[in-house]
Formats: sequence, C-alpha cells, structure tokens
Amino acid sequence: MTTPLIKTIPILPFGPLNAFLVVQAGRAMLVDTGLPGSERKIGRALRAHGLDWPDVALTVLTHAHIDHAGAGARVQKLSKAPVFIHQHDLPYCEGLAPVLRPTGRFGRLFQKTGAIERPFAYFTPDQVVQSDDVALHAYGFAARIIATPGHTPGSQSVLFENGDVIAGDLAASGILLGGIMLRGRPKQPPFEEDTSQVIVALEHLLSLGATRFYLGHGGPLHARAIAAHVAALKRA
Ligand SMILES: [Zn+2]
Ligand SMILES: [Zn+2]
Repeated sequence: MTTPLIKTIPILPFGPLNAFLVVQAGRAMLVDTGLPGSERKIGRALRAHGLDWPDVALTVLTHAHIDHAGAGARVQKLSKAPVFIHQHDLPYCEGLAPVLRPTGRFGRLFQKTGAIERPFAYFTPDQVVQSDDVALHAYGFAARIIATPGHTPGSQSVLFENGDVIAGDLAASGILLGGIMLRGRPKQPPFEEDTSQVIVALEHLLSLGATRFYLGHGGPLHARAIAAHVAALKRA
C-alpha cells in the first residue's frame, strides 16, 4: 500500500479549527467536517488534490460537536459515502445537547457564548461504530478507527499504520482555541467530559505506536509532547 497523505483543511483563518483530507492511492477519506457550511471548503480541498466528491470513500467523525460534525449531513449527501460515528456520540449527532464541562477560564467564557450548543443540521450517520477497533483496509486505507472516549463518550481517533493519528479534541494546542501562537504546546480543549478517560485514551494511542497527533484545534504534536501532557494531567 502507498503511504496516506494527511492534508489539514483549515475551517477558520489562522488555524484554530481543522478538518482533514486523507488521500491514499487516489481515494479520499474525510476526518471531521467542520462547522455548518464547511462543505464548500472541503470541496475546494478535494479539487486542489485532483479529486471530487465521488472520490470520497468514507468520512469519519471524531465526535459530534458542532465544529466537527456541523457539515456532516451535507457531506453525507454530497459524497454518498458512509459516515462513521461512534454509537456513544450518536445522540449528539441526532440533536441531544452536548455535556460541556469547562477545563478552565476560557472554556467557562466560551460556554457563555453558547457557540458549541448552537443547533446544526442534525442527522443519522449510516455507520454507527460499536467496536473499539475498526480496520479501514476495505476502504483502501492503511488505518483503523480506535475508540478514544473522554472528550465525549463516543470520541474516536483514526490511527494510521505509519504512526500518524487524527485524534480530534483529545488534546489541543495554541492560544485560546488552537490559534497561531504556542501551537507546539499541548493543552486541554476548552471542554472535556471526563479527563481521567482522556488520560487512558491518550496512553492507549501511545501504546499502539502513535507518533504524530493531528488535532481538531492546533497541532500536529509529537508523541513526546503528548506524553508530557499526559504526565501533567496526571499530576493535576
Ligand atoms: Zn469537541
Ligand atoms: Zn472541537
């Protein structure tokens, strides 16, 4: 198999929010879909790589917050390809308000804006993941979906055989929400449902050989930075 190419799709200017296009042997996988309306940016990213919607083999949602699943319904329609969500995040995708547990001052301020609780085009993805480990070879990708709960109960990551991993909001980097400064320094995202589960999930990815962590906000970060972050979370 060829090596998958991971391309960041910046959903907002200056890098505070990422979706991902993965290309392997002429096939495309999308990981996360950005805020509502982001399908235009995703379409442009596909065309920039000589691809278009019919080349999308699958979409994986790392979790069902609005900034990751907001354009999911449109992406499902445009690509006509399977969309994977973990069963424990399905209720959020179908309209249940997310549990928001702020991790600090920014999270508390951000919560007041109500931005994360805004409604989006709720939908039911056609691939509801019930397993902790789903191989994606049948779709043409040297990768697996690994259950990594904590940020939300159904958070999941896409781990590639070369050690790259797209880990959603298990960690973040950059000032505020993954902005342009301090992008190499890991931190917690503004909200996290269960930090003890996040620690277990990050250690699980490290034990599976993850070396480079692509994140929804900021990143990518090296495994060393993630290991130091895990140690800091354990001390806190
Ligand atoms: Zn999130
Ligand atoms: Zn997010």
